[in-house]
Amino acid sequence: MAAHEQESPWVVDTRELVRRPGAMRELSLSVTAPERIGTDVVAVQAGQPVELDLRLESVVEGILATGTVTTTASGVCVRCLDDVELELEVGVQELFAYPERAAHHHKVASPASRKGGGKDTETDEDEQHVLDGDLMDLEEVVRDAVVTALPFQPVCRDDCPGLCPECGARLADDPDHHHDVIDPRWSALAAMATPTDDDEKRN
Ligand SMILES: [Zn+2]
Ligand SMILES: [Zn+2]
Repeated sequence: MAAHEQESPWVVDTRELVRRPGAMRELSLSVTAPERIGTDVVAVQAGQPVELDLRLESVVEGILATGTVTTTASGVCVRCLDDVELELEVGVQELFAYPERAAHHHKVASPASRKGGGKDTETDEDEQHVLDGDLMDLEEVVRDAVVTALPFQPVCRDDCPGLCPECGARLADDPDHHHDVIDPRWSALAAMATPTDDDEKRN
């Protein structure tokens, strides 16, 4: 039935837990990220291993997944443009509901969405994970966890001094780096005060 979904590395078979409240299983899964997860500045790159350590608990509403997502993101320091690697260990807890529980949730939510623009309801639906038969698709859970944990402005280290605004040199390599900058206003005055070759010729 859900053959194409079974091909996804994020899909887990929970057959032995479905409809058995109280049953529990530990799940350790190592997935090679099939595509990039993140933002323009920092992301878990495609091909990066993502480790999932989850406890799956069968509850009345569905299956509750609790645990951690561990992986490495990479990007560029926003100050000095050096490559940055970030170890991520993100806690997750998500309920994967049985379809009829999810359908009930939608029914309750839909009248409000018709009245009030429906934006909040859309968010609710996005956050709701539903079991597809015995299958649990963890892709969205991992994606949300990783994106939430990524910094908006990655830095190579907290006190990264960045680049010289004059010449672009990396200040971390050369902390005493400076330029004898003459303010353009002062240089104009200096030119007036000092007779140049041209002035001397005219005289
Ligand atoms: Zn830096
Ligand atoms: Zn410089």
